[in-house]
Amino acid sequence: MTSDFLPFALPEIGEEEIAAVVQALRSGWVTTGPKAKQFEADFADFLGGGVQAIAVNSATAGLHLGLEALGVGPGDEVITTTHTFTATAEIIRYLGADPVFVDVDPSTLCIDVTAVEAAITPRTKAIIPVHFAGRAADMQALLAVARKHGLRVMEDAAHALPTTCGGKMVGTLDSDVTVFSFYANKTITTGEGGMLVTRDPEIAKRSRVMRLHGINRDAFDRFTAKTPSWYYEIVAPGFKYNMTDIAASMGIHQLKKAHAFQQKRARVAALYDEALAGLPIIRPPHAAAGDVHSWHLYVIQLEDSVAVKRDQFVERLFAQGIGCSVHYIPLHLQPYWRDTYNLTPEMFPASQRIYERTLSLPMYSRMTESDVLRVVDAMKAALN
Ligand SMILES: *Cc1c(COP(=O)(O)O)cnc(C)c1O
Repeated sequence: MTSDFLPFALPEIGEEEIAAVVQALRSGWVTTGPKAKQFEADFADFLGGGVQAIAVNSATAGLHLGLEALGVGPGDEVITTTHTFTATAEIIRYLGADPVFVDVDPSTLCIDVTAVEAAITPRTKAIIPVHFAGRAADMQALLAVARKHGLRVMEDAAHALPTTCGGKMVGTLDSDVTVFSFYANKTITTGEGGMLVTRDPEIAKRSRVMRLHGINRDAFDRFTAKTPSWYYEIVAPGFKYNMTDIAASMGIHQLKKAHAFQQKRARVAALYDEALAGLPIIRPPHAAAGDVHSWHLYVIQLEDSVAVKRDQFVERLFAQGIGCSVHYIPLHLQPYWRDTYNLTPEMFPASQRIYERTLSLPMYSRMTESDVLRVVDAMKAALN
């Protein structure tokens, strides 16, 4: 690794976030409180469409709460994509249900809606699409299939802030729940954090209760309430998934910059598109006409004509001080999922083919034009 290593991802954290965190630390209230409430209100405003936003300590927690609120349990099946991070599927197992993995559409890298419909059985309860890399899945077709078969839909929008689909913000579509991630490498970050979004008052209520031990009022409400603060009721065996005010203080300022970050990422993507033209590289799918791509990731594939294998290509970039990643090692290749559900590569030809030749180039809001050109120069050297 050279001293001027160009990382794969880098958060953009300004003095506003630093001051806000310091203020939270000095305030005397560091766990869930006024800042988490404000972040939730700001987030709901940011998306629009009359949604409620529930702050949690990770997207994984939000996905777990969302699926729990949808009533998924043992014996149920939930259809999702093999081409995702394990968090999308593990939360199905948390509830004792079984994931049913389907392939992706190679033109979007998102869940193949035809394959979804073919995978529906009498046990199917819900579908979890992923807006891969920040490009929206084909939600219109997916929601139509869900409606036709009476299934619930929870969007894994960990990559998709801000992303639009048919001109609407992801988070305001007609699905039941949408979950965003504020992990360190996502489009906005709170270090660790997530947001569950829904328009359904019952799902919102259940998620709020289950977020904090199944207590029917939160610690800050108890602290500020007029009634004696020691009394609370446990209505379910809940979880410990609340977001701290320290994290929310960061999130409030990150959210204000989300559109500006997206514009910077879109510029980096455009610079890559231009600089990679003419190379034996398949560039990433763009958003549908008129829609916004969050550009969380810039995912390329090596064309068949390229002699160097992907693993070696990544090593050659690394040797030149360029950080890359692979999204994803599909779940059908991961020992737990493969062995538990008897999955083979032949069942997922599109995902398997993409996996064998894909890599994700450095992508973050602070990348400069010369950073992009440095990556592309290193790629040219690695191709020879
Ligand atoms: C990052 C990510 C998650 C999990 O997010 P956390 O906030 O780290 O729990 C879930 N799904 C996808 C597709 C992700 O990329």
